[in-house]
Amino acid sequence: MILPVYVYGAPILRRKTDVVETDTAELQKLIDDMIQTMHGADGIGLAAPQVGRSEMVFVVDVSPLEDELAAEGIIVPDQPMALINPEILYESPETDEFEEGCLSIPDIREMVARTVSIRVRYLDRNLEQKEIEASGLFARVILHEYDHLHGILFTDRISSFRKRLLRRRLREMAAGNVDADYPLAVATA
Ligand code: ZN
Repeated sequence: MILPVYVYGAPILRRKTDVVETDTAELQKLIDDMIQTMHGADGIGLAAPQVGRSEMVFVVDVSPLEDELAAEGIIVPDQPMALINPEILYESPETDEFEEGCLSIPDIREMVARTVSIRVRYLDRNLEQKEIEASGLFARVILHEYDHLHGILFTDRISSFRKRLLRRRLREMAAGNVDADYPLAVATA
């Protein structure tokens, strides 16, 4: 089932998520719905708060970036994947900048600096513990979604100059003046 995506300004996007303790039919349904919602919106990642939920889980599917990832020599596990209760165990000291967008912030793209490579521990959707190394765009997608689980949006990570330029558009978005070609849920405080 495709779920509406909560838009910038919705309080759920600022709340920290809760650790998932047990496997339930509800969790599995949520993961299926999140994957469907991400695909339906042509996204490469989606976190639970973006569909109004507080479980500590996000899904990614970087297969649309296959060519870029191959060019960078980055190998990724089978996609799509769900990461439950993820922990970043290691972040490389080097960072790079790349343009990011977010399904909760339609039509805005900004350069964001992120660490280049990471090691992540998480539970897969069978609640089995996994550990992976990720770099480049793959690491970036994971870090972007990981931020969502802690109430952080990519617009928090841009320069104060760029933030000032975006302030009005973000305010309008939060007030419901927003459109996308996938279903949206607009903020209700
Ligand atoms: Zn996002």
